[in-house]
Amino acid sequence: MAQHEHVRVAVIGSGFGGLGAAVRLRREGITDFVILERAGSVGGTWRDNSYPGCACDVPSHLYSFSFAPNPDWPRTFSGQEHIRAYLEHVADTFGLRPHLRLNHEVTMMRWDGDELHWVIESANGTTVVADVVVSATGPLSDPKMPDIPGLADFPGKVFHSARWDHDADLTGKRVAMIGTGASAIQIVPALQPKAARLTLFQRTPPWVMPRMDRAISGAERWLHRTLPFTGTARRGLLWGIRELQVSAFTKHPDQLGLVERIAKSNMARSIKDPALRAKLTPSYRIGCKRILLSSAYYPALAQPNVDVVASGLSEVRGSTVVASDGTEAEVDAIVLGTGFHVTDMPIADRVVGAEGVTLAESWKGGMRALRGASAAGFPNWMTIIGPNTGLGNSSMILMIEAQLNYMADYLRQLDVLGGRAALDARPSAVGAWNRRVQDRMRRTVWNTGGCTSWYLDANGRNTTVWPGTTAEFRRATRTVDISEYQVVRVPAQRDAKKAVAEEVAG
Ligand code: NAP
Repeated sequence: MAQHEHVRVAVIGSGFGGLGAAVRLRREGITDFVILERAGSVGGTWRDNSYPGCACDVPSHLYSFSFAPNPDWPRTFSGQEHIRAYLEHVADTFGLRPHLRLNHEVTMMRWDGDELHWVIESANGTTVVADVVVSATGPLSDPKMPDIPGLADFPGKVFHSARWDHDADLTGKRVAMIGTGASAIQIVPALQPKAARLTLFQRTPPWVMPRMDRAISGAERWLHRTLPFTGTARRGLLWGIRELQVSAFTKHPDQLGLVERIAKSNMARSIKDPALRAKLTPSYRIGCKRILLSSAYYPALAQPNVDVVASGLSEVRGSTVVASDGTEAEVDAIVLGTGFHVTDMPIADRVVGAEGVTLAESWKGGMRALRGASAAGFPNWMTIIGPNTGLGNSSMILMIEAQLNYMADYLRQLDVLGGRAALDARPSAVGAWNRRVQDRMRRTVWNTGGCTSWYLDANGRNTTVWPGTTAEFRRATRTVDISEYQVVRVPAQRDAKKAVAEEVAG
């Protein structure tokens, strides 16, 4: 058999989740690990999304690692290039480069129940063997291309927001923008001044709140650099405000009416035409879909070179885009802001567990994982930002760091068990956790607000969002409850056979 690199832990992906996991491994004294990354550099979604206007709608002092504060964030809501640079900086500062295997797209990972390890194959022909897999591929990594008749034959440029074609100069061009999600509402204000004509295909109008973005002054930065506790206090305040909002989303959606009024007046400030205002006004409860933040979106839509088609794209005929309501427009380029494969993530087809089934097969009825991390039948495999760990209103980095506590304790528990054991989540524990989560989900705005969104899967189940505060999730993932796992050991018979074989071999 060919010799493969054997490591204690293989981390898949090098976005916030993967890099965070790697830092935590080193802090736990574990250096025997690799990070397998499909692209040529780190950064995950903050590397892939480079569309004009791309920025984070969570304030940077909260949208960063607690263990790597950055006193020098340039803006309250920093742009993609600064967040990407931050992640590169984390990779350097914490000595992660030697662990990185770039251009290693994982094509398959299979659990070997005889050897108690994972065999991980990459597209470049290499194989890595790992005792534990930490899958941090992220839910927003694989673009969803809409299945539109004629799209493949469109003669001009077509690209997804997360795969921006920087060679396409859209200056003076007629552009169709498809979708009105968090990505599209950032692209529209950046594109509108350049394009000759911008036609926005809006299937469902979003709720948009103003974004209080501003440059962080030199004095503030100096303060955070000189007195680091001021940066911590700032982060604490940003976190606390968001924690207080949670019960409105999860228990009292009726309280969100006030927020709707703020969003409506945000629109009314820029959209004077009542017909356009009617098109742009959502008919579902705010918060049901992600609340979007922008102070530039509505002003852009009010410009004379923008048309809002209140209907989805249904067909492309040559260079004509056709909406479901029959509206047609001739365009030179199509930008797809159509989101990601979240509840049907492709990586799930590439994980084969103890029973020989893929994670995708195991999740046919909906994604589920114990404490957002462990799937039954997939020993020593855990995921960062797994099922029901997403947030509608706060920083995902808080959830990632909670999951890193869980990962660290998981590895400690394995140490206690000794080298010849693995942990497999008990189906009963996964079921109990999932029932608790789904029970709480029933009252949330995501399930009752009268919309469809990527939070819900094909069966209408919310398998993406965490229905509580980040503090609750942190408490729930502080340590591993070993009774929720079965300990898997190498079959004694197989061990004996191997010992004899080794003895014979000399
Ligand atoms: P998204 O929220 O899934 O939005 C996809 C959009 O495409 C929706 O408006 C959808 O309409 C529309 N769509 C799909 N097919 C269509 C068709 N045939 N015709 C017209 N419209 C169509 O995707 P996203 O905007 O990329 O955002 C995904 C997530 O990424 C966000 O929710 C957020 O979590 C994250 N994100 C975050 C930031 C940030 O600042 N932190 C920025 C960007 C993205 P329907 O609404 O009718 O389905």
